Amino acid sequence: MKRLFKQVYHLVHTHGWLADWVYQLARPGKRLASRWRKWQALRHPVTPEALYPVRQLTGLHGLIIGVTNICNARCVFCAYPRAVDAKELKGGVMSFAIFKKVVDEWRALGGDNIDLTHTVGDPLIDPGLIEKINYGFKTAGMKKITFITNGILLNRNDNYRKLIDAGVSEIYISTSGVDREDYEKTYGVQHYDEMLSGVHNLLRYNRERGEPTFIAIRFRNGKAPSQIIAAKEFQEKIRPFFSARVRCNFTVDFDNWGGLIRQEELTGRMRLRTIDNDTNIPCGGLFSFMVRFDGSVRLCGCRFKRSDMDDMVVGNIKDRSLLEISQSPEAWKIIEGFYVGKRPETCLDCTLYSPVNAQFVRGRAQRINGHLTGTTAPVSGDVFQ
Ligand code: SF4
Ligand code: SF4
Repeated sequence: MKRLFKQVYHLVHTHGWLADWVYQLARPGKRLASRWRKWQALRHPVTPEALYPVRQLTGLHGLIIGVTNICNARCVFCAYPRAVDAKELKGGVMSFAIFKKVVDEWRALGGDNIDLTHTVGDPLIDPGLIEKINYGFKTAGMKKITFITNGILLNRNDNYRKLIDAGVSEIYISTSGVDREDYEKTYGVQHYDEMLSGVHNLLRYNRERGEPTFIAIRFRNGKAPSQIIAAKEFQEKIRPFFSARVRCNFTVDFDNWGGLIRQEELTGRMRLRTIDNDTNIPCGGLFSFMVRFDGSVRLCGCRFKRSDMDDMVVGNIKDRSLLEISQSPEAWKIIEGFYVGKRPETCLDCTLYSPVNAQFVRGRAQRINGHLTGTTAPVSGDVFQ
């Protein structure tokens, strides 16, 4: 079944007409899925009493350790250039000491899987990235380390080789497509050649080493998938490397970063997702924690509106442990606030809102109970009240 899925996936992403067709259908499909989730959430609403015991972070959940919130691109679909221009975002790079503290704590909680992507920022900006990856794998015992990059710095200092040699588990490349003009319009910078050459070198070197790293190119495309697939650069520099561990995908629709991005700011065929968040049930995104470069811990690692030091920050790793922060009254106040229509600024007009449902609670409870007892225990009755 897995093999068949991979074959179909490959077929879709290498045949332009098929990709156009599938991605066109994907938009209404996503809308339907979102309505289905909402219906499920409203059918048996999760109560605050049911949610409270499963709010905490355990090693069996994911953790984002954002190594830097500085970026070298200015994407039209991202809050980063707006926050920088408005001087609302204070950029920085995580010190090794903070990284070590977070990873060690995470390991002690049973965590062995980290994502190094800040809400905004490119991990390759961090000059100590390889040292951190090496520490994560070799000393802290991480089994999986992943991140997203725009690929601009892959060639610098032979980063593409160092990342593969360091054993990064998964690398996701975010780029616009294989057309210089479109790239410059969408990514707001003139680094097309470096990006394309870096991605090509990464794919080539990964192939030479036996594909130790899973790589996915995520096209943030303003052009139709068929136009990208037909492009010479795609055919010559990207497609030959597709395999079970190397693939690409296209973007169905774009998020608005808490209402910050407007449709008219996007390029070509890019479309914003519609807002559907009129439900007073907490969003599942609140349960994904992100450690900012300075040790601040934020609920929801994937979005902010004006700054990453906003009302989603619930503590700092320098003052309290990760576990304490996840169980803190500050974190619970934000989650509980949803029940009475009180949301952080970023959540107010967010198109990524996804209300929690009984299945979400059940999954977390199983993982928490299994983690605490060393088994995958059945769900405790008091979770469903
Ligand atoms: S989307 Fe990524 S690459 Fe583009 S500006 Fe934002 S953080 Fe930078
Ligand atoms: S509503 Fe949006 S910003 Fe808020 S937690 Fe959910 S995904 Fe994150």
